[in-house]
Amino acid sequence: MAFELPPLPYAQDALAPHISAETLEYHYGKHHQTYVDKLNAAVEGKPEAKQSLEELVRTASGGVFNNAAQIWNHTFYWNSLKPKGGGEPTGDLKAAIERDFGSVKACKEALAECVKTHFGSGWAWLVVKDGKLAVVAGHDADNPLRDGATPLLTIDAWEHAFYIDYRNAKPKYVEAVLEHLINWDFAAENLAAAK
Ligand code: MN
Repeated sequence: MAFELPPLPYAQDALAPHISAETLEYHYGKHHQTYVDKLNAAVEGKPEAKQSLEELVRTASGGVFNNAAQIWNHTFYWNSLKPKGGGEPTGDLKAAIERDFGSVKACKEALAECVKTHFGSGWAWLVVKDGKLAVVAGHDADNPLRDGATPLLTIDAWEHAFYIDYRNAKPKYVEAVLEHLINWDFAAENLAAAK
């Protein structure tokens, strides 16, 4: 069974105007698809072809890791966004954020800062590790599962995530994501599952 591109959880134009259909056409339809194609080519006829994507993210190295993690990270990113997202987290997630960041505003600022200051390609992650929430940066395809943390949500900080819509204005991209698209419900589900 070859690795497959999971369906987007919404229509390709559903995140507009904050992230355009054209961005998703390239980011999902071409970049994400290419990671799937490259992983399948790299593992063909090898034992890794029988491992799960998460096992490869946790244990693989080199090109197999890079492509496996980029598949996993992008699927997680699509789920970290939703049409009419943004707003405020609620319930246990809100309580955990206030406990560990001081306020929801401080958590959002930490995520925004992580994306804005990331040099080169990578990801900003909200994670829980040892019962504590934190924002961590990952370079290139890096994934917090490698570090014993559980991802709650992620924001893609690669240029291909924002260049069509925002050109070089990375701060405008991350502000739009946090204001209009971030899916706190997804983070809350991941936090509940981590307990
Ligand atoms: Mn990407």
